[in-house]
Amino acid sequence: MRPRRWLWLLGTLAQFTSCAHAECDKKEFAIAIDVGHTLHSPGALSARGVAEFYFNRTLAVRLHGELLERGFTRAFLINERGAEIALRDRTGIAATRGADVFLSIHHDSVQPHYLAAWTYDGAERRYSDRFAGYSLFVSNNNQARARSVALARSIGAEFRRNYFTPTLHHAEKIKGENRPLLDKYLGIYRFDELVVLKTAKMPAVLVENGVIVNRDEEILLRDPVYQRMLVLSLAQGLEIYCQRHHRGHKAGLNGGP
Ligand SMILES: [Zn+2]
Repeated sequence: MRPRRWLWLLGTLAQFTSCAHAECDKKEFAIAIDVGHTLHSPGALSARGVAEFYFNRTLAVRLHGELLERGFTRAFLINERGAEIALRDRTGIAATRGADVFLSIHHDSVQPHYLAAWTYDGAERRYSDRFAGYSLFVSNNNQARARSVALARSIGAEFRRNYFTPTLHHAEKIKGENRPLLDKYLGIYRFDELVVLKTAKMPAVLVENGVIVNRDEEILLRDPVYQRMLVLSLAQGLEIYCQRHHRGHKAGLNGGP
């Protein structure tokens, strides 16, 4: 093929690519990033005694920065200061600010009977190295459940592409777990009664980014390079979701994936 034809082909491809993604209007697409837990009720304690809230806040702030850099100027954080705020008020804030999607940032633990004691830095701590990995939760009680699943799929695919693997321990048939797995490969569970998911008026996903009671995974989750890869996966998942689903989102919340 002559060089000019190659140029023509490249030009056509570039045009096609930009058209295929044109529907994601980053300046319009509002992303609510919820920082899980509060300073007074900070969630799980890591294997080395750091509360979950601090892991959540670090990752949420980094994700917010990444989204702003990508041009999602309407991305915003909910409760980065860790104030006492009811769960349904978080989704209320998201609705008031016109969020198109709601993403709740968390870090994971295990059922108490799996925890054992060890000493770290002179203090007795609790840990379990049995499970590791991320998980994604959606609720059937969310009024935009099909789109919630679509968002979870976009994020799960990016996690997988970046070599993160899901933990499957929430599907274990024991008290406190027993969550139906919607997608084993992508690590997507159904958890209908999670308050932020069922009260959100927009597609909503809760992300457990990793298991902080696992001694090895805690080290990774505190590492800025590892955090960066998590943030890039989340941001790219949101961007791909926006490209695929943002058009017409106000008209039909529960449209197909
Ligand atoms: Zn949590």
